[in-house]
Amino acid sequence: MPERKAQDKKLSLTLPVEEGPYYKAGSPERRNIVDPGTPGTKLIVEGRVLDSMGKPIVHAWLDFWSADGRGHYDNAGYNLRGHQYADEDGRYRLETVRPHEYLMRSPHLHVKVRAGESAPVLTTQLFFPGEKTNATDYLFEQGTLVAVKETRDGQTAFFDFVIETE
Ligand code: FE
Repeated sequence: MPERKAQDKKLSLTLPVEEGPYYKAGSPERRNIVDPGTPGTKLIVEGRVLDSMGKPIVHAWLDFWSADGRGHYDNAGYNLRGHQYADEDGRYRLETVRPHEYLMRSPHLHVKVRAGESAPVLTTQLFFPGEKTNATDYLFEQGTLVAVKETRDGQTAFFDFVIETE
């Protein structure tokens, strides 16, 4: 095996943020997690899942859940909950609505990401730039801020996950 050189650049792993009280296992497999009539601005989230060497993780598992545009979670059903698998290039694409703040929490999207069935699960939260409540949310994490672009009918947010594969 070739020796790894000191200057080989490793990406930093995406930082975990606590799961919170509203995760539900068993979400449906879907890229669009918005049931009809859900309040909120349309939001696309896209990016890649990578290992620390920057290599795409083919078919990585991602499970998203979030509050709607009024800060409400569906704890009875599975609205705004869904899992998906990254494609051959490690890309994922989520269709959702922009979550609203609730209680002491700044707007955020919850997600679990895993390279494969025997790999560790990253549980984290994505945050949005320019939200005043980012400054007062005790869970806010600068490292998981998405980049947001305004589109014709909503917004697109970009975020690449870097996770452990074993
Ligand atoms: Fe939450």
